[in-house]
Amino acid sequence: MLVVTCVKQVPDTTQIEVDPHTGTLIREGVPFIMNPFDAHALEESLRLKDKYGLRVAVISMGPPNTEATLRKALALGADEAMLLSDRAFGGADTLATSLVLAEAIKRLGRHEDVIMVLCGRQTIDGDTAQVGPGIATRLGYSQLTLVDLIENLSVQDRRVTVRRRLEGWHEVVEAPLPAVIAVVREINRPRYPNVPMKLIAEESTIPLWDNKVMGLKEDTVGLKGSATLVRKIFSPERAGGEILGDGVKDPQGAASLLVDRLIEKGFICA
Ligand SMILES: Cc1cc2nc3c(=O)[nH]c(=O)nc-3n(C[C@H](O)[C@H](O)[C@H](O)COP(=O)(O)OP(=O)(O)OC[C@H]3O[C@@H](n4cnc5c(N)ncnc54)[C@H](O)[C@@H]3O)c2cc1C
Repeated sequence: MLVVTCVKQVPDTTQIEVDPHTGTLIREGVPFIMNPFDAHALEESLRLKDKYGLRVAVISMGPPNTEATLRKALALGADEAMLLSDRAFGGADTLATSLVLAEAIKRLGRHEDVIMVLCGRQTIDGDTAQVGPGIATRLGYSQLTLVDLIENLSVQDRRVTVRRRLEGWHEVVEAPLPAVIAVVREINRPRYPNVPMKLIAEESTIPLWDNKVMGLKEDTVGLKGSATLVRKIFSPERAGGEILGDGVKDPQGAASLLVDRLIEKGFICA
């Protein structure tokens, strides 16, 4: 039985700079890492492998250099990794991305029973949190988002119970398998690779699944298959701040100053 983990390679910064002329992200010279949320998804998959003897396959759609991130996943203990890359897949939004990932999962399912797909809650660059739910919808799998604990997995009954981390409370949900589980960072602490595993991963072959292998219609993938188009990316201008009563130490004096200023601005009434 197989757990598929979706991993995206992202630039190693949350302060992505935007080219003011083209309005696109400047990626040159920025090192790439495994999307941090996906590192937690992989860790959870590896724990399921350790506990239930499941196999872990990692898939990533991205440019050819994404292979480096897949090798890291192998070094951590994934059993196999597939790179989904083709010029035709480039420029994909979440609709087109979830299609390629879902089709890859179907391909894996031809040879082995896929019982779970784990992914991160969101990426730190695209940030949409749509791909996990997109995969679940396309495959007709149960959809469990914001998961911070897999409470119980019954492989025999094909059911999973998870805890969802919502604002201010938790929700425990049971669902039939197969399921897509999108995890939050609090779920676990990812392990580190060891040297022998790193060496094995360096020598492993990572199959390339391009569109000759996948055989998807060109107008359903990449830019052509995307329903959204990013018109402009920009950093919002900061509206400048004001420091009131520099040096006022007592909280009451500071609060009075603030209230006076808010009244003066007309934001509150006296
Ligand atoms: C040739 C090529 C070039 C690409 N170039 C870029 C690029 O420059 N910038 C860019 O952002 N994307 C690029 N992609 C990937 C794709 O366009 C995005 O992954 C997609 O739009 C995801 O949106 P998001 O980041 O908001 O994901 P979210 O919905 O926030 O992601 C949620 C979760 O879904 C999974 N996931 C998301 N995307 C992928 C993926 N690609 N592979 C595996 N798992 C995934 C992860 O587990 C992630 O935590 C490229 C793809 C190809 C084939």
